[in-house]
Amino acid sequence: MKQISFIFLAFLFWVPCWAQIIYGANNYTEYHKGSLPVVISVPHGGYLTPTSIPDRTCNSAVTVTDANTIELAQQIDSAFWIATGCHPSIIYCNLHRAKLDCNRNLSDGACGNAIAENAWHEFNDFIDSAQVAAKNAWGGKAFYIDLHGHGNPTSSSFPKRGCNGFAFAT
Ligand SMILES: [Zn+2]
Repeated sequence: MKQISFIFLAFLFWVPCWAQIIYGANNYTEYHKGSLPVVISVPHGGYLTPTSIPDRTCNSAVTVTDANTIELAQQIDSAFWIATGCHPSIIYCNLHRAKLDCNRNLSDGACGNAIAENAWHEFNDFIDSAQVAAKNAWGGKAFYIDLHGHGNPTSSSFPKRGCNGFAFAT
């Protein structure tokens, strides 16, 4: 009985530190709702290229993917979990940047496509919600990271070729 009580208490203790995952429409965006005062957004690591969204061509659109930023965010999440037993909040855009750029204004990022515009709103609303939740839980303060990476398509692993010659995405 004592052991069951301990397990029950441990369950109650750990539940607040679990990351709840909220998906946007078609899983184009994801909000991993953590409990630490850390919010990370990952706008340019997505791989999805649905045909329902045309490739972005408006206003000299930049369409290169930031290399390995989803994987990096997952590693950061694991490091926080190991160190604290809790998760940061992480917001992912799973759409390829050729379809949506969540890090631009709406008209440049979605190029007028309604499906892309919806995902843009979801992504940015998730960030707002995560920041409000983190601040409310941690005395009005939270640390926000907008995670980016290099976009050199010929370099598969960093920093094989050194920093010179990399085209850093912005
Ligand atoms: Zn970027």
